[in-house]
Order: sequence, then structure tokens, then C-alpha cells
Amino acid sequence: MKILVTGGAGYIGSVTAELLLDEGYEVTIFDNLERGHRDALDPRARFLQGDLRDPAPIREAMLDVRPDAVMHFAAYALVGESMDRPEAYFRNNVTGGINLADAMLAAGVKKIIFSSTCATYGQPERVPITEDEPQKPHNPYGESKLMYEKVLNWYRDLHGIDCVFLRYFNACGATAKFGEDHEPETHLIPIVLKTALGQREKLSIFGDDYDTPDGTCIRDYIHIVDLARAHILALQEGRAGAFNLGTGDGFSVKAVLDIAREVTGREIRAELAPRRPGDPPRLVADAGRAKAVLGWTPRHSDLHAIMRSAWEWQQAHPEGYSR
Ligand code: UDP
Repeated sequence: MKILVTGGAGYIGSVTAELLLDEGYEVTIFDNLERGHRDALDPRARFLQGDLRDPAPIREAMLDVRPDAVMHFAAYALVGESMDRPEAYFRNNVTGGINLADAMLAAGVKKIIFSSTCATYGQPERVPITEDEPQKPHNPYGESKLMYEKVLNWYRDLHGIDCVFLRYFNACGATAKFGEDHEPETHLIPIVLKTALGQREKLSIFGDDYDTPDGTCIRDYIHIVDLARAHILALQEGRAGAFNLGTGDGFSVKAVLDIAREVTGREIRAELAPRRPGDPPRLVADAGRAKAVLGWTPRHSDLHAIMRSAWEWQQAHPEGYSR
């Protein structure tokens, strides 16, 4: 089977491409390398460089490859940045996505697995969060992902495109080959580990007066290999619909820090800082539907194991991918 992976030079896309190739799929990666990394391209994949905001390159790629399915990761994904530059998020994540879907129509490609997010739920009313939770995003990033889910729903109803929406919780961890390298880095685990490496002086804990047991925010951390596996299951099981991908367990910022100290054996300085605007106190998945329908079970997402894999990658790539 031939799979076209957009954003395959990015964090989750690179690992999904790696797993697909390990399983014998033929993979073409379409990426503009704006935020992805040439070193994150699996050498076994065919690579086509192009930007989804331009309709022509993706149309040509789709007509040339004629994949059996598309896995769509290419997007901007920083909440804070989306509050400063909403237009960039709508243009890249929505317009780019429409260009992708139109290219699929042109080439008769009928299946897409889309990288969505728990940010589409905003501040959930009920935790653990099921797929039926109302989607009320609190930032343009989450809104852009929700808008594209809606676009795809219409392409499904009116053009017969099968779609799967995988709503990730907190993606983290690494494989031996590929890991997390964002510029700027805003995510907790890589920041904690860069502090352990001495590249940052200290971690700022964004608020300890939330309504949680230790006062810091709780998140559901899921290993990217488990996320990647869910894409392959969604493909093999031939299912459609939306699936939350998380472990169902929540860890506070302080708990993450403690585990990082344990795994690295380093002190890791931390100090209290003001709350980060827009942070919901508790985001934990109810991933029951993914388990029941896709047969998906997280196997790599014990937080100690996640931390070890991320720490190994950080130590092997202290400056990230070469630039
Ligand atoms: N966080 C923190 N300090 C940091 C980065 C993150 O205290 O330098 C907290 C953040 O407020 C949130 C949690 O860690 O409660 C996870 O943040 P991250 O940005 O990794 O993921 P998010 O849940 O925002 O997508």
C-alpha cells in the first residue's frame, strides 16, 4: 500500500513514516521543511518538497503518487504563536488542508487520517474527555484543527472521502532515530530535559494554584510511537470517525519534573512562575473508543519509559537536528 505523509519531516510525522516503512508500506513524504528537518526524513521514503498553501505542488504529487491513503500531519502547532498570528494558522492549517483535500479529489484518493488535537475541546466540561465532549477551542490553533475536521466531514458526505480524526493529547518521547526539536521549544518535557542538560538555567512552573492535588496542571502524556501505531491501526481497520489518543492517566507538572529528576539523575532547577494564559487545569483522555474500535492500546506510554526515550534522544542530539 502507498501512503502519502504530509509533514513527514516533523515530530509525529517522522515517527509514523518510520513505523509505516518498518511494516513494508511504500511512503512518500510531502513537506516544505519550514519547521520539519531534513535529518528527520526517513531515507527509505521518497521525499517531495512542497508547501500546501500552494495548490499546484500537492496536486502534482497526488497525481504522481496516487496513494491508497493520506496521513496529514503538516501544520503549525504552537498555541501561543496562534494567539499572535491567527491568520498564519488559518492559512496553513485550513487553506493548506483544503488544497490537500482538493488534490485527493483530483487523484481519486478516498482516505485521509488527520492529525487533530484535544485542543479542539478547549476547557472541557467533563474529564476524562470523550469524543462527544463539545468542541469549543480556546485558541486559533485548536480552532484551525476543528475547522479542518468540519471541512473534511463535508468532503466525506459530499465527495465520499473516508476520514479519521485522531485527537492527540500530549505527544512526547522519541525513537532511536527521531525525536522532538521545535524552535522555539514550548513543551514541558523537552524543556525539562534541556534544563537537565544545562542548556537552560531552570524550568518555570506555570502556576501552582490550580484546582488539582498539587496545584499544577495535569496532562495526559502519550508516546509518539503509540500515536503512530494508532494511524496504522486506523488504516488497517478501515474505520472512520474521531478518536481520542491518550493513556487516561494524568500527571501534574510537578510529577513530570520529579520523574525527569529520577530518570536523568540531575537536579533540574525549577521556580514558580505565573500561569500561562489559556492553560486548562486538567486534560485527560477517555480513549475507550480507540481501544474498542481500533484495538489500540498504548504500550510505550509509561511516563518513566517516555522520559527515558526522550532523555536518550536529547543526549544524542543536544542541539537537535542539524540546521
Ligand atoms: N509547562 C510549564 N512550564 C513550561 C512548559 C509547560 O509549567 O516551561 C506546563 C504547561 O503550563 C502545561 C503543561 O506544562 O500545564 C504541559 O504543557 P505543554 O506546553 O507541554 O503542553 P500543552 O498541554 O500546553 O499542549
